[in-house]
Amino acid sequence: MRIKASIAALAILLGLLGTFGLAFGQAPSAPQADSAEPISTPSAAADSSEAGQTPEAAEATLEVTFLDVGHGDCIYVHLPKRPDMLYDDFLVDGGDSGRGAKALRDFLKERGEEEVDLVFLTHAHSDHCGGLAKVLPEVKFDHFYYSGTDYPSRTFGKLKELAGDKAEVLKRGDTIDLDSDEEDKVSLRVLSPPSEGALSKEENDNSLVLMLSFGEEDFLLTGDIEEKTEAQLVEEYGEKLEAEVVKVPHHGSDTSSSEPFVAAVRAKYAVVSTDGKRYHLPKEAVLERYRDTGAEVLRTDEDGNITFLATEDSLTVKVEGKEEPSEAGEASAAGSETDGADEEGGEGGKE
Ligand SMILES: [Zn+2]
Repeated sequence: MRIKASIAALAILLGLLGTFGLAFGQAPSAPQADSAEPISTPSAAADSSEAGQTPEAAEATLEVTFLDVGHGDCIYVHLPKRPDMLYDDFLVDGGDSGRGAKALRDFLKERGEEEVDLVFLTHAHSDHCGGLAKVLPEVKFDHFYYSGTDYPSRTFGKLKELAGDKAEVLKRGDTIDLDSDEEDKVSLRVLSPPSEGALSKEENDNSLVLMLSFGEEDFLLTGDIEEKTEAQLVEEYGEKLEAEVVKVPHHGSDTSSSEPFVAAVRAKYAVVSTDGKRYHLPKEAVLERYRDTGAEVLRTDEDGNITFLATEDSLTVKVEGKEEPSEAGEASAAGSETDGADEEGGEGGKE
């Protein structure tokens, strides 16, 4: 969002440019975290991600962050800061109501984001919607998109209530207009659920599947789809499923990432959103399937927040890194373990 903090950060940045010279003037691939380091004032630190780029670079860069929310999914997308963009940013899922909500809240606070223009919920399981139900009361948003599921859980019910008349149902073939540019350099297309027929009894297979594209760079966001939906996607889209970055479906479960799907996607980067513990995910055999097609596997439990910076023809990734990947306190601090208690939908092991 364009808030005062970013103006202050920019002013400080401009001042520092004189001191540090070209260090700040690098191309969009310059790691943002590094360039933010010399800045110590709170306002600049609060908006370091944006301050780390020159205005020209920010105008040309799409930023996609897979947040480390433990077991669950939460993806934050900041669109290029071009005048023709209709929106600034959007969220896909929000992790669970414990660790997920905390990670999302902290992330937005650190960036100084008080609004998120669009919110997408892939499906209604608590490890995707719990964080949104907790955080959205504090964050302004314009549109809420979901599959149309009527999943019977209290958390999802609360979220639907929060969304109110901002809620819109998406189906295969829908597109979200993100810019006013006729060429649609930045596009967001819905690949699933299918536009015809009833939703599946398996909530995972109702997940919104989104293809976010910027020039040559594609991000395939899959929620928790399983083999059945993957097969439908392969049949419907074939090689058009190819994407530079894929969010590995269902936290790396072996009920997903079937070989035909992984082969069709041919990703450079396969991102797993996981705490590395729950349900013993991700499965090693699944990770191997991606590696066999040439993908580099990144995972939030080991890499922390994972951020991709894309221009129309380049892609860089930076990971936050973790000093202690299997910190003992983490499990007890994680809300996911208790989160099932507020669910009435009987999700069991289906998250
Ligand atoms: Zn899940």
